[in-house]
Amino acid sequence: MDGETGVVAEGKVDLKDLSFPMLLAALEPLGFDRLRATRLYKWIWKKNVRDFERMTDITGPLRRKLAARYTISALGSAGVFLSEDGTTKYLWRTHDGYLIESVLIPDGERLTLCVSTQVGCAMACTFCLTGDLGLKRNLLPGEIADQPLQVSLGLPPDQRITNIVMMGMGEPLHNYENLVIALDLYLNQDALNFSHRKVTVSTVGLVPAMRRLVAETQVNLAVSLNATTEAQRAEVMPITRRYSLAELMAACRELPLRHRKRITFEYVMMAGFNDSLEDAARLAELLTGVRAKINLIPYNENPEREIRRPDEAAVRRFHTFLLDRGFCTSVRHTRGRDISAACGQLGGPDALARRLRRSRDSVGGVS
Ligand code: SAH
Repeated sequence: MDGETGVVAEGKVDLKDLSFPMLLAALEPLGFDRLRATRLYKWIWKKNVRDFERMTDITGPLRRKLAARYTISALGSAGVFLSEDGTTKYLWRTHDGYLIESVLIPDGERLTLCVSTQVGCAMACTFCLTGDLGLKRNLLPGEIADQPLQVSLGLPPDQRITNIVMMGMGEPLHNYENLVIALDLYLNQDALNFSHRKVTVSTVGLVPAMRRLVAETQVNLAVSLNATTEAQRAEVMPITRRYSLAELMAACRELPLRHRKRITFEYVMMAGFNDSLEDAARLAELLTGVRAKINLIPYNENPEREIRRPDEAAVRRFHTFLLDRGFCTSVRHTRGRDISAACGQLGGPDALARRLRRSRDSVGGVS
């Protein structure tokens, strides 16, 4: 799939798939210097201009050279769904007809966008509906970076996205090359200009790629742990057979995290499976000595799985156990369940079909 990067119809390269160094290297032979390339970058990422002719501070001959070789893509909207709790789900159609999703979650001062990195997912975690799709394809850098751009454009002037979490459809580290280009687009001040402190990549635990990410970027890392023994984790997360829990935890201890950084451990709580105090005690033991934050996610129930969400008392008991032992622990409140935008509900086949029917009536609008 990597060979496809940056190439779209008519053999033209999509400028949205290029980091700034890549753009500069590609355009220098056409007569662009750093200043002109920066202007072009700003037209694309700051002003959302896709027609070269509108780029008035670039000379006519250069504009024509660009138009002959390059294109600037955009995700098409396939529907916007507003939840009762203020969460908004954006459904996008890719140029080859796939549907992907982003979820915008307001929370006090924060406005967090959860973005997708693949169409479907190959990790096949048993509890997660995205896994049912299998992996269709990797998203290209421009498709990953266009999600916050398109969402921002539709926000009222007094609102802006404050945080990006790569916790939508897909396994970000299974699409590593495209991911790091997209991160570059998020962080570049002439593109989307997010602080690395506000961007989080979440993974099932692809150990070598985790090491690379921490060495090559400064963004935050989240690990979906979800279980506390090898057997328990392998039962729900097949990746455990490739990278064991022991190997994952050893890597987490050794990662050269920068000053003050901590790894977030996500722990999806499933009734009768991993929600007992014995589980909590094992979790505390696993994370002792790790610079960790724990995020408990009570399971979001769905018609496709028998799995149940623990009752509130069980979640509270588990939470309190960890707090009492000094772990920085939070419980993720479910958001957007009524529009199938909650964790693990993205891309579920029925949900997608339902939404598709609804989106025919609401393309481009808030339904
Ligand atoms: N593949 C990456 C990015 C996706 S993040 C990763 O797994 O980290 C999606 C998060 O939602 C993961 O932490 C996953 O464990 C969690 N999740 C999946 N299905 C869920 C469900 N039904 N209820 C609650 N959380 C779920």
